[in-house]
Amino acid sequence: MSYEEERERMVINLRRRGHIKSKEVVEAMKAIPRHLFVPEAARPSAYHDTPLPIGEGQTISAPHMVGIMLEKLDLSRGQNVFEVGGGSGYHAALVAHIIGENGRVISMERIESLAERAREAIKRCGLEGRVVVIVGDGSLGWEQLAPYDRIFITCASPEIPPPLVDQLEEGGKLLIPLGSRYLQTLVQVEKKGKKLKRKSYGGCVFVPLVGEYGFS
Ligand code: SAH
Repeated sequence: MSYEEERERMVINLRRRGHIKSKEVVEAMKAIPRHLFVPEAARPSAYHDTPLPIGEGQTISAPHMVGIMLEKLDLSRGQNVFEVGGGSGYHAALVAHIIGENGRVISMERIESLAERAREAIKRCGLEGRVVVIVGDGSLGWEQLAPYDRIFITCASPEIPPPLVDQLEEGGKLLIPLGSRYLQTLVQVEKKGKKLKRKSYGGCVFVPLVGEYGFS
């Protein structure tokens, strides 16, 4: 089977299991080649619904988890989006596809070599300039291009980093795996004036956030 056929089948399965529903998310997952975001050795498994190692002890999340997060992010065209934990760049590329040419994703990754590989894959997808990968501690946000309409964290976090709440646009939404180092709950926070409206979704497992507001 070709990568295209495998990807098509992955999307059919994610829809059948109810992980993805909206036209925009389905189209994005059909369009972005996940195999370009994993190391050569992992390519035969690129379209299996499982996390895969991407080097430096880090992983690309399982497609169903990426799909669930894309649905909960409730994206629209032209948005300014911030990601903590760029990793392979796959998640950021999907977001960029959904928010279109006038949108922008700032993806922060603490490990330089992963950021470099993510940039290459993003370029190969023709998304250069629409996803900007920056090396640094994403738990501090990135003041220069704030406020953000959407913020998503793809690492396990012990708390919601306060700078990220500050950098979230009024009415904006933030998605974060909140909990312990080994098990988290996917939490969505909506900024309404001084209040934060919280919603909890299911359990999830991410690699830990390392940084100012991460695990020590
Ligand atoms: N969204 C990624 C998943 C990456 S896994 C993808 O689609 O592939 C989480 C990533 O978060 C790892 O690459 C890890 O290095 C990174 N990370 C951990 N703490 C971080 C921090 N404080 N700032 C930025 N990146 C961080």
